[in-house]
Amino acid sequence: MIHNLPPQRPVTARHLNLESELLDYLAEASCQPEADTRIPALGQLSSELHVSVSKLREQLEVARVMGLVSVRPRTGIHRQDYNFMSAVRLSLFFALASDITAFDEYSDLRKHVEMSFWHEAVARLTDEDKLRLRQLVALAWEKLRGSPIRIPHAEHREFHLTIFSRLDNVFVRGLLEAYWEAYEAVELNKYADLAYLSEVWSYHERITEDIIRGDVDSSLRAFEEHTKLLPSYHNEHRGNGAVK
Ligand SMILES: [Zn+2]
Repeated sequence: MIHNLPPQRPVTARHLNLESELLDYLAEASCQPEADTRIPALGQLSSELHVSVSKLREQLEVARVMGLVSVRPRTGIHRQDYNFMSAVRLSLFFALASDITAFDEYSDLRKHVEMSFWHEAVARLTDEDKLRLRQLVALAWEKLRGSPIRIPHAEHREFHLTIFSRLDNVFVRGLLEAYWEAYEAVELNKYADLAYLSEVWSYHERITEDIIRGDVDSSLRAFEEHTKLLPSYHNEHRGNGAVK
């Protein structure tokens, strides 16, 4: 038996306890998107919210790390649009700093998230987005076939994020953006095995042409196959089938 179910009406922001007067203030301010994004100086906020300046400073640091405010010497403190990535990124980087093999688990999460939202994301792509995918593939081949060879990392990141760029879900996009931040942090963007890179970009080309042809199932299969090419940190650190 389930007791104490919440009433069937939306809970308003006021009922959520964020344990921070500043976060409460920011959450309320974000309900009025047309309002000025500038936040009063801490002294003024302190008397407005009845919280000490030093406590507000701590709360401001949390808000800054979460990407909810920008703090700059001349322009002051400004509210930012909500993003999920900043908080995920910090937690993920901490996990990786303690154990780099955790990248494999996050990579697996990313794969499943992309596969689950693949059809929905692809359905929203515009013709322009699809041409951008094709353009990124061409730019990548140019780099890989150039002399000297360059790693098309920026193109790789943009390629996958473009596929999800029209998905109206800030959490999915945040998880995926954090994946690419981590990918760079563990320096996979410097992984310069030409055979690997050529195979990866052949898959990207297949994904693009499948999407343009309207064969979304086939593009999804190509995506899934191409995730298996990624070197495994577990293997590398445990010495079985190591990839450098
Ligand atoms: Zn890829």
